[in-house]
Amino acid sequence: KMPRKFIVGGNWKCNGDRASIKALIQALNAGESTIGSGVDVVVAPPMLYGDYARGLLRSDFGVAFQNCWVGGNGAFTGEVSADMIKDAGFDWVILGHSERRSLPEIKETDETVATKTAYALEAGLKVMLCIGETLDARQSGKTDEVNARQLAAVAEKVSDWSNIVIAYEPAWAIGTGVVATPEQAQETHTQIRKWLAENISPQVAQQMRIMYGGSANAANADSLARQPDIDGFLVGGASLRPEFLRIVESWK
Ligand code: PEP
Repeated sequence: KMPRKFIVGGNWKCNGDRASIKALIQALNAGESTIGSGVDVVVAPPMLYGDYARGLLRSDFGVAFQNCWVGGNGAFTGEVSADMIKDAGFDWVILGHSERRSLPEIKETDETVATKTAYALEAGLKVMLCIGETLDARQSGKTDEVNARQLAAVAEKVSDWSNIVIAYEPAWAIGTGVVATPEQAQETHTQIRKWLAENISPQVAQQMRIMYGGSANAANADSLARQPDIDGFLVGGASLRPEFLRIVESWK
């Protein structure tokens, strides 16, 4: 784990308004500086509040968007391109979140997520690539198969993985209060790294930061962070509270 810098993301989803975002950022800014420390911290406000949040946040926090269009600018009403995100001064985009994969109004396919990932990288963004299985898939022993399928779709379109971090987020743990045990998460992270070693390269496998996401909070972060293949967290619910800072500290 030593050569991999810990990374913690806060996914605010479709939550907040100017007042609550300001209050949350004031609490985050009051925390310890992470400059020169062993952790990267990136928060993902709702798209509309990106500039507002960037203007208020301390400079050592990164800002991510929660989605982008599959390609460049054009006649795609309602969409925001990776080029715009980059041009507006942001470095990160979260892609393939399980809500975007599973909500019936969205239903992003593995292929769409892969296309977005390839284009966002080309546009100069760093990508938090979310993968993970449903409860059904876990119960029928298909966890590794699902993760491999989601990664293989990306591997079809991407050859340079250096600006990708993977967020392993079992859908059954997202927003449910049911967190994966440290053993379950470690086991799956090991399998993901093994897949990378066999299908991309041993070097990519060794260097890839694999974050865990799914009901991570201040109480369970330390035991998860101690696992050798868990390199950070992607946090939903708890990232809307000052408790997020305690999760950031789990890198220590
Ligand atoms: C997420 O949406 O990325 C997530 C992990 O949510 P939560 O922490 O609320 O389970």
